[in-house]
Amino acid sequence: MTSPGAPVGIPPAVTEETAAFWAAAAEGRLLVERCTGCGAESFPPYGMCRACRGRAVEAVEIRDRGRVYSFTVNHQRWLPGLEVPYALVLVEFPDHPGVRVFGRLRGCPPDAAAIGMAVEVGFEPGPGGYAVPSFVAVPNVPATGDPAVAPARGAA
Ligand SMILES: [Zn+2]
Repeated sequence: MTSPGAPVGIPPAVTEETAAFWAAAAEGRLLVERCTGCGAESFPPYGMCRACRGRAVEAVEIRDRGRVYSFTVNHQRWLPGLEVPYALVLVEFPDHPGVRVFGRLRGCPPDAAAIGMAVEVGFEPGPGGYAVPSFVAVPNVPATGDPAVAPARGAA
């Protein structure tokens, strides 16, 4: 028997570029990458700036509340033990343009997911003992219907 959010699935392949992210995740901290050359931030960690291709990057912790940029509700049991339905949300952060992080939505029914809804960063146990990012709905904050920040420019 499994509970919602049970660690099912494939453990992450930790690389030199993502090791700091996973170590911080184990402490409940969400790290993204910032270019020390041009200041662009991005996720997931890549070891190289997506804007200018510079390799001088540093980790920055996201502490603020996010807003749902997009979402999907999954009804398909892709893996044994996977509880369905659940909502996956793509979240952006007002002070971190260019960063969008994907994760499971918690704290509300999946069908309550909405674009613009406020969420807090959270972590939950994932496959292989890794903590994976997820997002907790913030009650009593109406969804704006608009993304927290302007949509990112087209992918390079
Ligand atoms: Zn850059």
